[in-house]
Amino acid sequence: MDCLFCKIIAGEIPSAKVWEDEYCYAFKDIAPQAPVHVLIVPKEHISGVDCITVKNSTVVAHIFSVIPWIAAELGIRDGGYRVVSNVGENGCQSVRHLHFHILGGEKLSDRMA
Ligand code: 5GP
Ligand code: ZN
Repeated sequence: MDCLFCKIIAGEIPSAKVWEDEYCYAFKDIAPQAPVHVLIVPKEHISGVDCITVKNSTVVAHIFSVIPWIAAELGIRDGGYRVVSNVGENGCQSVRHLHFHILGGEKLSDRMA
């Protein structure tokens, strides 16, 4: 499958890793929208939030259990941060591999994106 994030997970495209375990991989966004901007993705290819099912949602729960640890590691846990996932055309999702943006390090806009 020709998927950018599958290639990053496989190490075929370099990335700045901040977390890896059996189920997920987190790395710095190439075009940061905040002082801290990390993407966390499941290793299994799921195209987006719109493709989460009862069957594959365990990895999503896992990702959300890891996010606070990553936030702590990045020094943004106490100040707070934002977790965002864009979905499909209207959501402006540009990479069709499920990913959650972790944004922080400053007071973010009070708009949702
Ligand atoms: P989306 O627009 O789908 O919500 O988010 C995709 C994100 O992937 C964007 O924030 C974009 O900057 C990031 N991105 C795109 N290509 C690369 C890449 O090759 N490496 C990294 N680290 N991030 C990327
Ligand atoms: Zn993929």
